[in-house]
Amino acid sequence: MAGLKLGQYPLDKPFMNSTTQGIGMTSARTRKRLAAILSDAGIKNSQVLSAMQDVPRHLFVDEALATRAYENTALPIGFGQTISQPYVVALMCEHLLSGARLGPVLEIGTGCGYQAAVLAKLFEKVVSVERVGELCRQARDRLFTLKFYNIHCVHGDGFQGFAERGPYNGIIAAAASDDVPPALLEQLAPRGRLVMPIDRGQKQSLIVIDNDGNGFTERELETVKFVPRVSGVTP
Ligand code: SAH
Repeated sequence: MAGLKLGQYPLDKPFMNSTTQGIGMTSARTRKRLAAILSDAGIKNSQVLSAMQDVPRHLFVDEALATRAYENTALPIGFGQTISQPYVVALMCEHLLSGARLGPVLEIGTGCGYQAAVLAKLFEKVVSVERVGELCRQARDRLFTLKFYNIHCVHGDGFQGFAERGPYNGIIAAAASDDVPPALLEQLAPRGRLVMPIDRGQKQSLIVIDNDGNGFTERELETVKFVPRVSGVTP
């Protein structure tokens, strides 16, 4: 930038280009580094690692934050919400993939659509429900532009599930609830798996629930930090 006078810098062309390929801090090399960080952090599934490497996370955040998109941190996406930390997305996807049969999955809390895109690389079909109308519309447009045609975005209260497209082989929630809503268990297919954060007093735990066809078994994984579930919808 040194030596440039005001007006010389092509402001209509942002420094970070907005193609899926990315350059510099959004390049293939930077994304590969993220996959290496996730692998060091304990993510083992190679399908999950390559999905995390493939999905252009810089196109799911504001352009001003693009250079930070491949850091292993949550970032703001507006409406008081965040794009989840890559490690948490990878961890949840890994647990979902190791338990659920391939087929339709339900995501609660679309946000900017990032985790839906990662899921879409791992599962046949993704139904993603978001309560904030504007986030839902933005995510739908973004995912369509990026050609993720196997994601169906729904505006609604995700903790009611979305029975029209169920039952689901996998269900994943990106907001913490203090209970497991019965509607979600009803929409979990036999041999399906649910992964969600649960509020337990002072802490949140990631839990896994398996439907073995005759009943449900629950396991607690690790302490996590998610935004809280909010009931109802906003336009
Ligand atoms: N999946 C996102 C994470 C978004 S943060 C990602 O890829 O990064 C969690 C999201 O859950 C927020 O957008 C919030 O609006 C949404 N949310 C909270 N309560 C909800 C509810 N009851 N139904 C649907 N979405 C909800």
